[in-house]
Amino acid sequence: MPIGSSDSIIVREFDTIYKHALNVGDIGICKWNLDKDEMYIAEKITGHDLDSVKNMKEMLSIIAYPKDRDLALRDLEDYINRDTIYYQSSFRIRTKAGEIKWILCRGKIFKDIVTKDNVLHVLMFNVTGTKLHEGHDILTNLINDRFFIRKLKNSIKTAKAQNRRGALIYIDIDNFGSVVNNFGFHFGDEVLIGFSQTVDSLIDKDHELAKFPGDKFIILIHNFNNIKEVEEICNRIYERFKSPLLIMDNQININLSLGVTIFPDDSDDADELLKYCNFAISQSKQSGKNICTFFDKQVSESYYRKILIESELLNAIVKDELYLNYQPKIDISSNRVKSVEVLLRWRNGKIGNISPIEFIPIAESKGHIVKIGNWVLEEALRTANEWKEKGYKLEAICVNISPMQLKRKDFKANLLDLCNKYNYPPSKLELEITEGTLMEACQDNVNIIDELIETGFQIAIDDFGTGYSNLNTLIQFKLSTLKVDKSIIDHIENDKNRYVFESILTLAKNLGFKVIAEGVETKEQFDILTKLGCNRVQGYYFSKPLPKNEIELLLDKYSR
Ligand code: C2E
Ligand code: CA
Ligand code: CA
Repeated sequence: MPIGSSDSIIVREFDTIYKHALNVGDIGICKWNLDKDEMYIAEKITGHDLDSVKNMKEMLSIIAYPKDRDLALRDLEDYINRDTIYYQSSFRIRTKAGEIKWILCRGKIFKDIVTKDNVLHVLMFNVTGTKLHEGHDILTNLINDRFFIRKLKNSIKTAKAQNRRGALIYIDIDNFGSVVNNFGFHFGDEVLIGFSQTVDSLIDKDHELAKFPGDKFIILIHNFNNIKEVEEICNRIYERFKSPLLIMDNQININLSLGVTIFPDDSDDADELLKYCNFAISQSKQSGKNICTFFDKQVSESYYRKILIESELLNAIVKDELYLNYQPKIDISSNRVKSVEVLLRWRNGKIGNISPIEFIPIAESKGHIVKIGNWVLEEALRTANEWKEKGYKLEAICVNISPMQLKRKDFKANLLDLCNKYNYPPSKLELEITEGTLMEACQDNVNIIDELIETGFQIAIDDFGTGYSNLNTLIQFKLSTLKVDKSIIDHIENDKNRYVFESILTLAKNLGFKVIAEGVETKEQFDILTKLGCNRVQGYYFSKPLPKNEIELLLDKYSR
């Protein structure tokens, strides 16, 4: 079959379709000779007179909707700088008649066979109302999330290049769900329309409002000089929605949560910024809704760490990740280890070593402390029994107890069960509780302290000296020990601290309590304490908390 004849028919047919399309006004073509800066344009989409336009950039500047101009120019530039294989760009234009249309441009640079000039051939499609651009939210007439993210990426690039800052304000209608429940979906749509129009009227014309899925909206502020400008916009929005929105003759109250991120400070990654916005909104909701939160990286990191700790803590016992360290308490006059404090340790596969200062409060807030506390007690009593059988002469093994443990009605029974199980006398178990814990427990489980003491357990007041508020209540109990807080020992060389310490010694002597100084780190501290008449000490100066095998070496020497 001779080549050419059928080809030329196709070309001719194509020509006809093409001309027809050009006439209908849904397709346009442009050719831009980059070397000569000449432009050929055939289109009826925009209605603009583009005859004198010399190049593509000039054309885009004329036709693009002002808010999308930067993005349209950026797409072209990215292609010319070879960042992209094809030229493809979709954006809004404003026609001569003032109408907004969505267009899609596709093109590629070819070398002219004769002149060897570089020519960019572009096809322009009017895609308004079609699925081709997917940048438009049909309900609210705003741009949608996908298009927004492209704009955001562009804005971040510009902000970085120009050393400026921009912001995202994420808006969530707290009570949208209940509006839909009460009035139905159709009404919900009307609320979204009314809401978007109202918010749009509150922001400057170069800010961009977009509709995100559900009842979420977002404002892009390309740049600002002072963070106050962003706060001002948030306030404006809140102020407006203090009064109801009129929707189909109904006055509707709108409650909002706002979350703000700043770029590139918080991040220069669009997805990450949106994630941070979400986080900021969740913080707003947590603090009682109807407020605005600026994203704080530290807050978010500690929040996600807390969540991780919470979830990992659930399986810490089953996964055998908990273990104990033991710190000796020294009796100065006899130079012996008289008791040992049990300190919990946690090594997790994902997080590594986590200090009890961090995970105990989380375990307490989530209620896991009861299970963990039981594990500690059982482990401690098993060890204590072993040591008893090895012949170590310890007055006590000391275990830290949380308020939630003490509040349990079965706490004492549990303790007794464990003592029975390990054949260990209650009188050799010292429970370290803080003053606060004691007061809290007494409110819920009124007689618990008395009952424990009557059963023979020893009670030490931990961190003593940090709050004297309930001294009267405290001294009514037959406590065994006051454990003077490290903060007092840290500066025991100061007159004031020495005076406090001496008063505690006098008080304890009169009431028949022992006194121990905790957190003793230096010889100077140790010397002062001995001079004051303190006979018990604990701290790094003698020994850090040690693993079981290491403390046993000490006990071999000092507790036989
Ligand atoms: P705490 O009961 O006041 O324990 C004393 C803390 O100070 C321990 O920290 C200990 O390692 C540390 N320490 C001891 N001597 C020195 C010293 O000379 N210098 C310094 N800088 N620190 C010293 P750790 O083991 O990190 O425990 C922190 C807190 O966690 C404990 O404070 C206690 O409140 C809690 N905790 C630890 N284990 C348990 C447990 O099994 N149950 C409960 N409920 N709380 C526990
Ligand atoms: Ca303690
Ligand atoms: Ca303490």
